Amino acid sequence: MILIYPPVAKPCEPPAGIAKLCGALNHHRVGYNVLDANLEGLLYLLSVPPAASDTWTRRAVRHLSRHLASLTCWTAYQDDGRYRRAIKDLNRLLDMAAKSTRVRLGLANYQDEDLSPARSADLMRAAENPENNPFYPYFKKRLADYLKSEQPPIIGFSLNYLTQALCTFAMIGFLRREHPGVKLALGGGLVTSWMRNPRWKNPFGSLVDHLVAGPGEAALLSLLGVSPSQDNHFRPNYDSLPVRDYFAPGPILPYSSSSGCYWNKCLFCPERAEGNSYQTIPADRVAEDLLHLVDKHKPVLIHLLDNAISPSLMNEICKHPPGAPWYGFTRITRHLTDPDFCLALRQSGCVMLKLGLESGDQSVLDSLHKGINLEEASLALKNLRKAGISSYVYLLFGTPPEGLTEARRTLEFVVKHQDCVGFLNLAIFNMPIYGPEVRQMETRAFYDGDLSLYTSFDHPKGWSRQLIRQFLDKEFKRHPAIASILRRDPPVFTSNHAPFFVMDKEMTRI
Ligand code: SF4
Repeated sequence: MILIYPPVAKPCEPPAGIAKLCGALNHHRVGYNVLDANLEGLLYLLSVPPAASDTWTRRAVRHLSRHLASLTCWTAYQDDGRYRRAIKDLNRLLDMAAKSTRVRLGLANYQDEDLSPARSADLMRAAENPENNPFYPYFKKRLADYLKSEQPPIIGFSLNYLTQALCTFAMIGFLRREHPGVKLALGGGLVTSWMRNPRWKNPFGSLVDHLVAGPGEAALLSLLGVSPSQDNHFRPNYDSLPVRDYFAPGPILPYSSSSGCYWNKCLFCPERAEGNSYQTIPADRVAEDLLHLVDKHKPVLIHLLDNAISPSLMNEICKHPPGAPWYGFTRITRHLTDPDFCLALRQSGCVMLKLGLESGDQSVLDSLHKGINLEEASLALKNLRKAGISSYVYLLFGTPPEGLTEARRTLEFVVKHQDCVGFLNLAIFNMPIYGPEVRQMETRAFYDGDLSLYTSFDHPKGWSRQLIRQFLDKEFKRHPAIASILRRDPPVFTSNHAPFFVMDKEMTRI
């Protein structure tokens, strides 16, 4: 079989879902091939001489190989200006490469002027006209080469982001037309979200043979006629992926120790709305996996993908450090108010924690059932800074209990903790289309698409998206303290590359 990771997603680390499938297939001695069509496709388009010959594009072409080299070693990450120039130029070249199509293309962007990834009819159109996709010359040849010698029983696609959807369907349409005998399976995070919608009706029955929601290991094995072993944890396997070719100074190993969330209480959380149960790998096996993978691949960074790394796993990692720097998302819990705990995390290799603070107003946090106490959050941020761990803080504006007054408290909180906040992510709240709380709100269609995951709603305090944007642009982002934090954020790759800008010299030599 062939497992394909389609464009476009940030090309900085191997696809975690596919590595997990490879682990399961290896364990059951099933042969397979892997194609990271995202990384390959982007590199292919970067190598095509662009039609445009303006000064910027010509300069970008001239510097292409230098930019690529600088992003795959430490050079760009030790020189902010150089990093930003490289990203800007590569985005320019991709956009120029797609100029003859109706697509705006970038390293993490795919926007079709005519087709929406949230509309099933548009995805079917992408499948009917694969030639219109900017990656067509790449995947036509690559897939033909793969299928020349043998027809695999199944080709599986891992579709996780909206930016991958139209390319996935273009590739599926091409395969359906040229190789009608091949069975096609489609899974991944985005497909799971579609299928968890209680109103889901499969619009792709004529095109895709199998749609898989949730972890795909057991489903894939059963499609191949293999009975899964009793043990349902298979260590991810990266051997078939080009771990050293991604846009990073060395291999980044993504690893997921759980699915769902151990807290699972925050109102309007998409994880909770989808009803994803919390499943976790025992902490000692996680530590064992990490030690094994680090020994094998010598990563420069481990990316823990859990929605929230549990305190017990953090304790285990402190006891058995993986031997490489690591980062991931965690909740702001009282554990982080203990300076010794933060220090132990740092000594285990933790370089950055992503923290979903969401608001600097206690009443908003309480209404959302975040389980965060602002005094504890303040102490946690200070402790992390003292320990040498950078904080990447996520804020969410426009949740139902938040109005302008509450949002100004968030501004005050961030300004007060400016020295402790390494990076900021600002988002405007999107109401998941289903979930227990949504029924109590006045909702309207948000995107014109049957696959849309969000719905528009009448904000109880009258704080519309337009007013929120105004506040963010004219007040929040203009505050000098906040502006200086926002300027640090690595463009395009944001939190995926942020750890490289905070690692000390000693760690960059690991
Ligand atoms: S901590 Fe994050 S993933 Fe968990 S329930 Fe809250 S928002 Fe959802």
